[in-house]
Amino acid sequence: YTGKSGTQLLAEKVKHITVKHYQSRPVVVQEAASVYDAICTMFLEDVGSLFVVDKQATLVGVLSRKDLLRASLGKQSLESIPVSIIMTRMPNITVCKADDLITEVAKKLIDKQIDSLPIVTEVDYGSGFEVTGRITKTNITALLVDLANDEMI
Ligand code: ADP
Repeated sequence: YTGKSGTQLLAEKVKHITVKHYQSRPVVVQEAASVYDAICTMFLEDVGSLFVVDKQATLVGVLSRKDLLRASLGKQSLESIPVSIIMTRMPNITVCKADDLITEVAKKLIDKQIDSLPIVTEVDYGSGFEVTGRITKTNITALLVDLANDEMI
């Protein structure tokens, strides 16, 4: 008997799951948008992070809840602060591709201590990324739930 252990089978299963199976839709704001606009968008769209794009729809930044809270601590009016001055900007953004393994993404989220990654495609030879999706800790939790349910069948 050379059967594989339950853990081996589970690991093999997980190692075939790619980002595109568990992605969410991205929510983006323009780089000229104000912190006030970004806060409104975050509430209306019910997401925990926003991706910032330029006029060509190229990814230029990321905004988290805490980025927006931090900007709100100042005395300045939130309508007068563009998101481009408070966002985490390229090239410091951790990204992934739709065909990346979900386990690689999970490792990036843990290593970088962040909640989400933009799913991107490259636009003409290294001139930037276009955002096609979003993958979050919640998506990874959904995968765990699916695996647990499968196991019970
Ligand atoms: P929060 O700040 O609300 O806890 P995160 O943990 O996701 O949310 O964000 C922590 C910091 O990392 C923020 O300053 C945010 O701009 C930045 N950040 C979030 N996602 C990414 C990413 N994919 N790549 C690089 N930086 C990111």
